[in-house]
Amino acid sequence: MTVSVESLSELVVERVGFGIFVVDRDMNVLMWNRFMQDHSGLSAQQVVGQSLYAHFPELPRVWLARKIESVFQLGTFAFSSWEQRPYLFRFDHDRPITGGVDFMQQDCTFMPLMRDREVVAVCVTISDVTHVSIVQREREEAVAKLQEYADRDGLTGIANRRFFEARLRDEFTRWQRYGGDMSMLLFDLDYFKKINDQFGHGVGDTVLRVMTQRVAEVVRAQDTFGRFGGEEFALLLPCTPLADAMRVADKIRCVIADTPVEVLGTSVPVTASVGGAAAREGVPTYDVLINEADAALYSAKRQGRNRSVAFRR
Ligand code: GH3
Ligand code: MG
Ligand code: MG
Repeated sequence: MTVSVESLSELVVERVGFGIFVVDRDMNVLMWNRFMQDHSGLSAQQVVGQSLYAHFPELPRVWLARKIESVFQLGTFAFSSWEQRPYLFRFDHDRPITGGVDFMQQDCTFMPLMRDREVVAVCVTISDVTHVSIVQREREEAVAKLQEYADRDGLTGIANRRFFEARLRDEFTRWQRYGGDMSMLLFDLDYFKKINDQFGHGVGDTVLRVMTQRVAEVVRAQDTFGRFGGEEFALLLPCTPLADAMRVADKIRCVIADTPVEVLGTSVPVTASVGGAAAREGVPTYDVLINEADAALYSAKRQGRNRSVAFRR
């Protein structure tokens, strides 16, 4: 038995795993393959010879008309990816609803069908890219989560040093351009080594976590609170002059010192020393600001600890 090329092509068009349909310039359907039938529930018999919009009023008419018309005018292919427009037809997809997509995600191509150098119709193909879109969305979410972890300190959950310094650098750059105020505080727990030695490292860790929580509660949302090193923390205060920053410093010091930390039935008294510095004329880089806050912190330690000191030249 011989099979004609025509009937073979017809078989292929019917069996391929993507949608194929053809419209004329008035959006009347000239062809409708099996995929389109299976997913729309409308057979070629029902659709061919009628306006596409008659059966699919939800189609984005303006957008689709412009796309089709451009193919008629230019005689070139046009595309639309799910990333620009998630779908053309509201077809169900066969993925679990947990994937987070409502309808089958679709990539579309618009192909000119030429006769005597003139576009006589446009063939549209619809590919089901739901799986791709779900994988990509999951990847984006995973990357965002990793990014979040990369910016956080493992023990306390607040910003780590790398993230803190990046924020400080950005804020410093903003200050250099627009002026105004910005301050930073560095604080360090007093005699923390003794706490570790006396109660053990586990208790030391708990103290660090509790302290962080307490301080985080008094810190404003616009400020960045980070762990700078072992038991040393930093606070970035945008739009804040030094005098105000030092008031925050005392608040932090009090929130730490006023109540001992209760760990496993033991009461652990903790104090902190704080150093503050502000951006001003003559501070060339953010590192200098860190060094100044550090010098002030050192001065607070020397003066007896459990106190706040502002940097003075
Ligand atoms: P000072 O008042 O001068 O700051 O004295 P200090 O003992 O706090 O200072 P020092 O820098 O000598 O010691 C800091 C200690 O903090 C040493 C280290 O064992 C402890 N430490 C650093 N990171 C951690 C941590 O993640 N967990 C615990 N439990 N201890 C830590
Ligand atoms: Mg210390
Ligand atoms: Mg220290």
